[in-house]
Amino acid sequence: MSVAEIIVDVPTMQTNRPFEYSIPDALTDVVEPGMRVEVPFGRGKRKIQGFVMKIKESSEFQGKLKPITRVIDLKPVLSQEMLDLSAWLADRTYSFQISCLQTMLPSVMRAKYKQYVVPLVDDPEIDELLQGQASFEITNQVDDETIRLINKLRQNKKIDIQYVVENKAVQVKRQAVTTDLNIIQLHEQKSQLRANAKAQIKLLEFLAAHLQELPIEFNVLEKDYGISRAAIKTAEKNGLVKVVEVTKLRKPVGITPEKTTNLALTDEQKAAVDQIDAAIVSETPKTFLIEGVTGSGKTEVYLQTIEKALKQEKTALMLVPEISLTPQMVNRVVGRFGDQVAVLHSGLSNGERYDEWTRIENHDVKVVVGARSAVFAPLDKIGLIIIDEEHEASYKQDDNPRYHARDVAQWRAKVNKCPVVLGSATPSLESRARAEKGVYQLIRMKKRINNQTLPQVHIVDMRDAENSAVKGDFSPALKAGLQETLAKHEQAIVLLNRRGYSSFMMCRECGFVLKCPNCDVSLTYHKDLRKMKCHYCGHEEPVPQFCPNCKSKKIGFYGTGTQNIEQQLNELFPEARVLRMDVDTTRRKGAHAKILQQFGQHKADILLGTQMIAKGLDFPNVTLVGVINADTTLSLADFRASERTFQLLTQVSGRAGRAEKIGHVIIQTYNPDHYAIKDASKQDYETFFKQEMYLRHQSNYTPYYFTTLISVANKDEGQTLKQSYWLKKQLQTALSNDAILLGPSPTMISRKQNKYYYQIIVKYKHEPKLHQRLLEILNGTQADTKKGFTIAIDNEPQHID
Ligand code: ADP
Ligand code: ZN
Ligand code: ZN
Repeated sequence: MSVAEIIVDVPTMQTNRPFEYSIPDALTDVVEPGMRVEVPFGRGKRKIQGFVMKIKESSEFQGKLKPITRVIDLKPVLSQEMLDLSAWLADRTYSFQISCLQTMLPSVMRAKYKQYVVPLVDDPEIDELLQGQASFEITNQVDDETIRLINKLRQNKKIDIQYVVENKAVQVKRQAVTTDLNIIQLHEQKSQLRANAKAQIKLLEFLAAHLQELPIEFNVLEKDYGISRAAIKTAEKNGLVKVVEVTKLRKPVGITPEKTTNLALTDEQKAAVDQIDAAIVSETPKTFLIEGVTGSGKTEVYLQTIEKALKQEKTALMLVPEISLTPQMVNRVVGRFGDQVAVLHSGLSNGERYDEWTRIENHDVKVVVGARSAVFAPLDKIGLIIIDEEHEASYKQDDNPRYHARDVAQWRAKVNKCPVVLGSATPSLESRARAEKGVYQLIRMKKRINNQTLPQVHIVDMRDAENSAVKGDFSPALKAGLQETLAKHEQAIVLLNRRGYSSFMMCRECGFVLKCPNCDVSLTYHKDLRKMKCHYCGHEEPVPQFCPNCKSKKIGFYGTGTQNIEQQLNELFPEARVLRMDVDTTRRKGAHAKILQQFGQHKADILLGTQMIAKGLDFPNVTLVGVINADTTLSLADFRASERTFQLLTQVSGRAGRAEKIGHVIIQTYNPDHYAIKDASKQDYETFFKQEMYLRHQSNYTPYYFTTLISVANKDEGQTLKQSYWLKKQLQTALSNDAILLGPSPTMISRKQNKYYYQIIVKYKHEPKLHQRLLEILNGTQADTKKGFTIAIDNEPQHID
């Protein structure tokens, strides 16, 4: 008897260890690690899913093991590397191993789907299985005998198994991006037709003339050649043609960019490529940090090191913050490596994502570019992992499992024996500090390509009389700058890191501020919708005509958002064409790309937006960058506020003057003397790093201390607080005197969707007991969780609010 160790889909910490099940004889050769199976669980007849982690010959267990009920996947969906990773990830992020395993799968496999056998070769056994059909659906009813046959055929590479999404909503999407091919095969029976069957004759004649192009898609025949669906159906009924459904892989990369070749490297670039190449060749799993000013040509270094990995017969994985925001980066990679590239990101439909995933699994691609979750791409023989803009907060998932892509990348690098390259003009303090200590190898690129000068930055003090006197949000300096740019037919980027129209609505009579009924935040006015909106839970309500509190009519809007700035720009420069890019204008698929393309083609003069316009864009005609209010990120109650401000200002400034023309940057601020703003204006990362390190040291923060954030949430505020104090006491007894315990305190937004949130912050240098204690607390509170408590543990949080 064989035994399978299975991680079951029962989300409690207890199930983070595998359960043993016996493998019925009929499934002996079928079950493999990495497959999902259905197993009985608990006393009743309940059947649940589980992942097979390991197969062994016998069990230590005294009683009788329950058998696996059926196999769900007829091929492993996760490799051994991923199974191992899931255990590490669950432990590291305090999450359920089952959630980690599910996170690694493409979403289609978590949705409703059908599994089909797809023949790869001609074979009598396949013919018997398919019985004249194009494909064979594997349902719950398929008997064990057949399952064994399917498995044998798959192991002999005679068939493949494909997943097709059955979810209705997803199907509509799938159709929009072209999916199923309908093949029409010509049968030589045209003569049987009567003369009045005009449509069918047309169809047959067309097919005869296009034999070379068969199979032809149903849709193409209909749309391009006017051959109706009905005619095809009748022709099929008459046995003249055969309509077959075949699943075609979708290609999510829209336009194929022009093919590029290697540029001649500058000295700095060459030094970087050589160092990384040496680690690729010697299979050394070390981490490099490229600290390169904006425009120093980091991308070319990435591309040429990827090439080095491919030369070693290896694959390469490249992570970017958010694909939709970095279309240029994706184009550069695809432009260099063409069909060998798969692109993974959240904008893909389930079907598209599955197709890209399949191409990677089948070794059809050598390079994967993607956002955070692409770090789980099923690549093997990885020779290089690159993380561009490594400081970006989006690399940390802020839901369970709360993993950082950098950590996962380093884990995979160790297993694959390959280097990791982190790149940024403004590295995270953690990474830069590790480079300082020699844990990472630092590579600095100080010069811009062609010795192009850095943009000239002008800081405007908004407290000055001439600035505070203006109506609206544009200082005379920024107004003049925009005027000049427009007059020269050059382009400008305007940043305001706050979307919406106004930040809040307040009564001048009684001071009442309109707030979300579910969350402890003020509602934001959205002019286009004429509604007040909550940015946390999505709650919407009409704009009140009078104060809900005192009935006064003196209720008005305060603060500024992108929508408001757009209106001001239209009033100040009626002739200028303005594009706005924020969460509200980019909801639809492809909306980002469209806005950026229009701007790139100079169909607009000003690109206005939130932080999403600050990243990686390379528009040669942009000579002015204006920052409306540099203080929005600075005023966050977060220990990373200065770091975020420095990063945002440096990145957005780097968008100006990237070609021959000199760039100008105008930063409006109420804190002109703040070091984050001053250093950013000089693109002086090193000075900023030293100052910020000093302050972090003073206040015992990352990277001097490790931080773990524990939050407790419940609908009852008193219960939440009680639970929080209990938790703190548990920790106090477990930890040494060196650990710093803060809280419990309400989170900045202490109520979200009608739940109260309290947090405890643990700062420590070395607390070997902390991890175990937290796991025990999580286990022990399972009973409490049922009563509506949510305890979340975040290792190295990206923000503490
Ligand atoms: P970064 O990512 O460091 O901000 P980029 O990689 O976008 O910089 O490079 C800036 C510009 O310089 C790009 O337009 C790029 O094509 C160009 N470039 C990079 N390397 C070279 C090179 N070796 N020779 C000529 N042009 C280069
Ligand atoms: Zn009022
Ligand atoms: Zn809300």
